[in-house]
Amino acid sequence: MNTDLYGVLGVPPGASDEQLKRAYREKARRFHPDANPDDAEAAERFKEVSFAYEVLRDPERRARYDRYGPDAVFGSASRGAPGDPFAGGLGDLFEAFFGGMGPETGRRGRRGPAPGPDAELTLRLSFREAVFGVRREVEVNTPVHCDTCEGTGAEPGTAPVTCPECGGSGELRRVRQSILGQMITAVPCTRCAGTGEYVERPCAVCRGEGRHRAGRTLSVEVPAGVDEGSTLRLAGHGAAGFRGGPNGALFVHVAVDPDPVFERDGTDLHAAVHVPMTMAALGGSIPFETLDDVRDLPIPAGTSGGTVVPLKGLGVPRLRGRGRGDLFVHVAVDTPTALDDRQRELLRSLAEARAEELGAAPGHDGLLSKLRSALS
Ligand code: ZN
Repeated sequence: MNTDLYGVLGVPPGASDEQLKRAYREKARRFHPDANPDDAEAAERFKEVSFAYEVLRDPERRARYDRYGPDAVFGSASRGAPGDPFAGGLGDLFEAFFGGMGPETGRRGRRGPAPGPDAELTLRLSFREAVFGVRREVEVNTPVHCDTCEGTGAEPGTAPVTCPECGGSGELRRVRQSILGQMITAVPCTRCAGTGEYVERPCAVCRGEGRHRAGRTLSVEVPAGVDEGSTLRLAGHGAAGFRGGPNGALFVHVAVDPDPVFERDGTDLHAAVHVPMTMAALGGSIPFETLDDVRDLPIPAGTSGGTVVPLKGLGVPRLRGRGRGDLFVHVAVDTPTALDDRQRELLRSLAEARAEELGAAPGHDGLLSKLRSALS
């Protein structure tokens, strides 16, 4: 197998679309099976030329090939691995031409039974459960493995037989002629759903499916630090597959109730605390209940409203990684109201001592009413 697609067509790597087309036409004519009856070598060259052109004529495929080389096109041991940029991409095209006969992978064996579909549910948590993590029981209702037939789908005492349709391979190979030559495609066998086995007497419990719907209780460990919109993936806890196929995954979407005190911003928390004006002026401390414990929040003398007191490491644990975010306490300074005569006198004395001009008190003799009477 020649993996140099440009070399197959005999053009330089930077070849224009027109050059590619011309080279393809010339070579396809030369190696076409009609012009070379019973010539296996020519047939192979014809396939190579057709495949090379099919890849390079498509700008997206060509870009992948240019960037990642032959592995992008011919498959490799890494095919289907996580992060594989070609998963489900060019491999299918390759199989259409060469019937799954990869130069490195060889004939692909029959696939195992297909896994069941994924399931999902939404889990509502309190604010604190999301912050610190929690173990919760959830009800899941999906198809489950049939214990009666042990997932085979066959009535107990009987066994599935080799599928007469596909001979046990689980797939039907279709050969068809196209303008590009012979194309071989493999599709899952419809009679046995790709399992290669045929059930003559279906299990009465699951009607031959090897699975049946049932409710079950699942214990879900929610890690500390999840947030509204987080999704947990529990492999193997989705629906059971057809006739012994593995379970799909269960996706648990997290919803979080708001908290009356704390507001969350990623791993940081924000909260407000009210202190009297006298404490703000003189300094002191006030008990404040964090998510962990009650502690004395220091209020330095001369604190203004809007001052933020940070409490390091008392925020939300990091979901991926170590440590916790911070807690920021926003200080609000309360101005005293409902003063009695003595308190009013003390404040007036304070203002006098600080030479702070109070001006006229609002009311009938206030500035506003004077303005109003002047304008009327
Ligand atoms: Zn069964």
